[in-house]
Amino acid sequence: MKQFNDFLKEKLREIEEAGLYRERIVLPPDTVDFSSNDYLGLRDNPSTKEKLCRSIESIALGSGASALISGFHPIQKELEESLAEFKNTESCLVVGSGYMANIGLIPAISEEGDTIFSDQLNHASIIDGIRISKASKLVYRHCDVEDLERKIRTTNTKGKRIIVTDSVFSMDGDIAPLDELVKISQKYDAVLVIDEAHSTGVLGEEGRGIFSHFGIEPTDNTILMGTLSKAVGSYGAFICGTKLLINYLINRMRSVIFTTALSPLQNFVSLYNLKAIKEEVYRRERLFRNVETFLEISKREGLDVNFFGTPIITYIVSEPKRTLYIRDKLLENGIFVGAVRPPTVPPGTSRLRITITSKHTPEDLKRLLSTLSKIVNG
Ligand SMILES: *Cc1c(COP(=O)(O)O)cnc(C)c1O
Repeated sequence: MKQFNDFLKEKLREIEEAGLYRERIVLPPDTVDFSSNDYLGLRDNPSTKEKLCRSIESIALGSGASALISGFHPIQKELEESLAEFKNTESCLVVGSGYMANIGLIPAISEEGDTIFSDQLNHASIIDGIRISKASKLVYRHCDVEDLERKIRTTNTKGKRIIVTDSVFSMDGDIAPLDELVKISQKYDAVLVIDEAHSTGVLGEEGRGIFSHFGIEPTDNTILMGTLSKAVGSYGAFICGTKLLINYLINRMRSVIFTTALSPLQNFVSLYNLKAIKEEVYRRERLFRNVETFLEISKREGLDVNFFGTPIITYIVSEPKRTLYIRDKLLENGIFVGAVRPPTVPPGTSRLRITITSKHTPEDLKRLLSTLSKIVNG
């Protein structure tokens, strides 16, 4: 196996030389974490934990089978009904993870001859879903609806048109121009797929997401997917849309048919955390108060951060090795931020990705920004 191991070593050496080596870190206790997507602090939600303790005797720890065999338990049905209500759609399908949702959904709804129009900065799971599909792909410039419309108009397609976009872009924190995308999708009779991974629980009334944020309603041609692992603080994902769509996906989506359903235990956590999003309003209030405070302090510290109205805030360093250096210095000071480098983001745009949550204190924010300011200003 010498050849194989040499291949692995050589590839890893190239990755390391480019400053792109990745490893998993267990954060030391007491580290202030600015990297998680747990925007509302719900992964430690006491109200859900308490309900879980009271109900644990009657909750199955595993689902036992694919949802189409016997893995579909009452708790998943209840979770799907709650999500459909939350997202203002007819129906919902809960699936394994956001990644599995996208790699299953996109190939299921498309076929050869269709064209998928994809935002340049879409999440990797969307890109992989398009790769698996038999449709052709056209990438439009980031959030550029004129470029999108031009590409739709000048492309002859025998089949359907499908537009796919993140709602909040995971590595930049900016919000897709949903109102214009809906108009274009209606004008050209295109399907609109929106990935609500970072808008669910964060944007809109009661955290209902991007449609509520824009004050518009999903149409019959809209598909909303999102994950339960970010603001919901659990694990799993959902696809919301018409009853017709969901019935079709149950029959065609390979990452639903050929995989074991989520455990009732996990769905229990999602269900009660979703209730908490609606009822424990103070969480979102704290989150956005923290965002305000963060912006005020960063201005005072003279740090040029990028903010687009969401809790994902970036500080562009550009060079990957320098980004890692700053990340490690912060960690020495008990603060963790994500160092995002290619291929996750385009070359030359390596950055610190700072996510604010409801759990941060004003002292945490001050500590991060004054330490960062000291590091970058030498
Ligand atoms: C995190 C994320 C996913 C993947 O969701 P998981 O449940 O973590 O697999 C998909 N799309 C976007 C935009 C994301 O940020």
